[in-house]
Amino acid sequence: MCRAAKPAILAAASFFGENIVHAAVYASSRFVFAGPGVSVPTARQSLATRLQAAADAYQRAHVIPHCAVCVKPCCRLDTHVLELNWQQVKVLWRLNEPRSAFDRRLASGKGPDEIRAADGLYFAHRKVCPAYDEAQHACRIHDQPIKPSGCSDYPVYGDGDVLIADLRCEAVDVDALAAWVVRELGPVFRVTRSADCDFPFLVTLAVKRRGGNPKARAGRR
Ligand code: SF4
Ligand code: SF4
Repeated sequence: MCRAAKPAILAAASFFGENIVHAAVYASSRFVFAGPGVSVPTARQSLATRLQAAADAYQRAHVIPHCAVCVKPCCRLDTHVLELNWQQVKVLWRLNEPRSAFDRRLASGKGPDEIRAADGLYFAHRKVCPAYDEAQHACRIHDQPIKPSGCSDYPVYGDGDVLIADLRCEAVDVDALAAWVVRELGPVFRVTRSADCDFPFLVTLAVKRRGGNPKARAGRR
């Protein structure tokens, strides 16, 4: 079954009149919190945590080293849409005006042309991200909290108990990623893949236990 595209992804695409999207607009279950008063992770959350760890390790090993020589960097935003909150817009575009004044400026068509506003967020597209260093092929804010979380997630990230891979990134090899996940989780697991109906470059990798869930099998006896 095809996974439904999230509303925000469709909204972003319709703003700019194209079939474009940044994986950031997908809801991410990247963080699992635990502490006093918070229940410990369930088995399902544990799988999500391990999947996200596998995605992070894959990015460190295969994606980030490639960014310096990437032919079509996503940070140019020519095919990607970057989701931002107000604070990120204010800092990256070096704005001095209050948000209300900026929103009025946007609504009156006085730019910046590359930004659209919707649902309390902002979406940038068709102009190089102001934080991108073209000469170095690097993000100037890569180690700062202001960096949009979607940038860190891209192009492989966990979404609950599945991984999402964006094949527009030339560094992603979905066969190698599937093998990587099995190696990280153990041979008892296998990976199935499915492309998104609306955005086929978004591939979902679901992890299944070989031979099914042992508890479920026991329950059927
Ligand atoms: S498209 Fe992939 S390899 Fe290229 S800059 Fe973006 S993350 Fe790096
Ligand atoms: S904030 Fe950094 S990683 Fe994100 S699009 Fe801009 S330059 Fe790229």
